[in-house]
Amino acid sequence: MQKSKYTIFSQIRDSENWFIINPLTLQADILEPELAKQFVDGTLEDETPFIEKGYLVDPKDEEKLFRQKYLDFIDNRDKDEIQIFFVPWYSCNFNCFYCFQDEYDAPKKPLTQEVTDAFYAHITKAFAGKKKYITYFGGEPLLNSPAAKEATLYFFDQAKAHGLTLSIVTNGYTLKEWAPILATYPIREVQVTVDGMATEHNKRRPLKVRPEEGTFDTIIEGIDAAIAAGLTINLRMVVDKDNINDLPKMADMAIAKGWTKKFGFKTQLGRNYELHHCQSDRSRLFDRVSMYEDLYKKVQEFPQILEFHKPAYSIAKFISENGTLPDPLFDSCPAAKNEWAFDYSGAIYTCTATVGKKGEELGTFWPTVTLDQNQVDLWEERDVTSIPACKECPVQLACGGGCGSVAKNSHNGDVLTPDCRPIKELLEMGLKLYCDTDA
Ligand code: SF4
Ligand code: SF4
Repeated sequence: MQKSKYTIFSQIRDSENWFIINPLTLQADILEPELAKQFVDGTLEDETPFIEKGYLVDPKDEEKLFRQKYLDFIDNRDKDEIQIFFVPWYSCNFNCFYCFQDEYDAPKKPLTQEVTDAFYAHITKAFAGKKKYITYFGGEPLLNSPAAKEATLYFFDQAKAHGLTLSIVTNGYTLKEWAPILATYPIREVQVTVDGMATEHNKRRPLKVRPEEGTFDTIIEGIDAAIAAGLTINLRMVVDKDNINDLPKMADMAIAKGWTKKFGFKTQLGRNYELHHCQSDRSRLFDRVSMYEDLYKKVQEFPQILEFHKPAYSIAKFISENGTLPDPLFDSCPAAKNEWAFDYSGAIYTCTATVGKKGEELGTFWPTVTLDQNQVDLWEERDVTSIPACKECPVQLACGGGCGSVAKNSHNGDVLTPDCRPIKELLEMGLKLYCDTDA
């Protein structure tokens, strides 16, 4: 028997204890220091429980189990719902300092009914028999000029006619006005970005015209109106070192307003990072570990944060909430598999990371249908079994190979490269926060 190739083992943050997790056999345990030492040294008095849980294995049996679970994974992925992004325009009424779309040279033309019809005809055929939903995305999709509104309402009417539900990603500035209209459509959720309390948010997310006016108060009114209209809000905060200190106050606000008790209310923290072009001041950016390090300290000082947002810390949150492990993550990037993006120019892309970016098109759905099958095959193939660096990585089944677009950008355009996640470090912190690790 030897140590499993997939076992993740490390010391829990601020604890004497260690954790051992095998995402292939779905087992996890907390080990006291003496037992952890015996495991490391190979001097276990009783190996039986370690063999039963798959921490010690016969490599041939382990390979068999890996193949079987991989086939299950492919099977399940084929049955999963597809998220289809649609960009009606790249125009926006905001001028956020970190927006990457400002570098895109998108053609200025309106979304026509012809393009909308072509889009629905295409997805009906291309994803026939698959569960799917649409995310209406921008630019800012809820612009309220008469022409933009007409195009959006036509698009929503068609979604309804095709029996599809919608999610909306908006900056929230016009949400108060849109909320009663949205409530008449099959809307799953409205994602709104709030980047801190008024002062910080207004600095980062100003209007294009009249930037001195601030947008915070109007967005908060919009969220209140949307919740009152029965819509589900997904509140997103893009964090860096400048605004993370606002997190406790954001939590206080959301709790005081009763948002956190509303059914379906969700939050997400996005890391402000460089994907497409350089930030003018990169010292304010977090890398993957440092953002979670900062959160780890903040949560201990301001526990109300967890009522507002409970960071995943890899699979630590899942384990604490479900008492079991999630299925092995052979692939964390749904691009061109269960996620696609389309825009008003008729172009098809892999996902939100590439949509609108010149040279990243996979094809067109209008005026004619074309698809670069070689590119699609490449994206489809991408998982931990096809990325050479991932094949021997001990955390592969909790990582899934990361984001294909980030990997491609950092490896000379090669999609089959890794975008590494600090899985061990995240688990060290997450298990301390969420599990009774000193018991
Ligand atoms: S390329 Fe990145 S952003 Fe796009 S679907 Fe994959 S993980 Fe998500
Ligand atoms: S992306 Fe990096 S951390 Fe993730 S599985 Fe591949 S090699 Fe491991």
